[in-house]
Amino acid sequence: MQKPKSKSAARTAASAGRDALPRVRASARRPRYSEDEVREIFRRFAVQRPEPKGELEHVNAFTLLVAVVLSAQATDAGVNKATRPLFVVADTPRKMLALGEARLGDYVKTIGLWRNKTKNVLALCEALIRDHGGEVPADRDALTKLPGVGRKTANVVLNMAFGQPTLAVDTHVFRLGNRLGLAPGKTPDEVEAAFLRIIPPEYLRHAHHWLILHGRYVCKARKPECQACVIADLCKAAEKTSAVPAPLAELAPLPADGTIDGAEPTTAS
Ligand code: SF4
Repeated sequence: MQKPKSKSAARTAASAGRDALPRVRASARRPRYSEDEVREIFRRFAVQRPEPKGELEHVNAFTLLVAVVLSAQATDAGVNKATRPLFVVADTPRKMLALGEARLGDYVKTIGLWRNKTKNVLALCEALIRDHGGEVPADRDALTKLPGVGRKTANVVLNMAFGQPTLAVDTHVFRLGNRLGLAPGKTPDEVEAAFLRIIPPEYLRHAHHWLILHGRYVCKARKPECQACVIADLCKAAEKTSAVPAPLAELAPLPADGTIDGAEPTTAS
């Protein structure tokens, strides 16, 4: 795994990532939060989780890519259960390809849409071997040309495996952007562009995880737990039920299997 880049490199990489994103309507550009408020929100997330980690288990960039592809419409815990034994025997594209469709299918058949995903993973391995010498490219354009890899998957891999300040918009990030009015948008690309415009550079690297975890465990889809929210005083969501922020402290690491009572799954969008 590569080390995170410097703040200026982070800003440059984020700008490069924005190039392909949609232009945002002028009305949506009017900020509902001041720069200080946005900085304070992310400062508090950083206090809670100084080194946030994704919950998809992997041993290298390739297995991360496979895990993300398998996680569409599935829970991280369900994917981890299937990939734990799989990645012991197949942690490279060549080893995965050598398994063949039937054996790979046996490993992943507990995951939703597993038949299609099995085919996609094998096609992905072929493309990695043919076009990239068996390595995962650290480049969004190259990643999104791979079978079964969209912008969201590419952003997860660039962030987690290569330390790039990308922001993958899943169902939680999309909801938070709109509910709080921090980064409103009708599509994941619009929300991504809006977040990239407001997040201070020093917080870009981990923003993706902070937002997912806040959405999964506190600002839940059906009923946000505002009493447990450390940004309740800053939040401008209409659904907010408390304006008193929860005590700010570093949180204990999440369980290794990615499961916790009351958590909402991250389904791919
Ligand atoms: S105060 Fe409530 S609605 Fe606002 S971010 Fe916190 S949990 Fe979500």
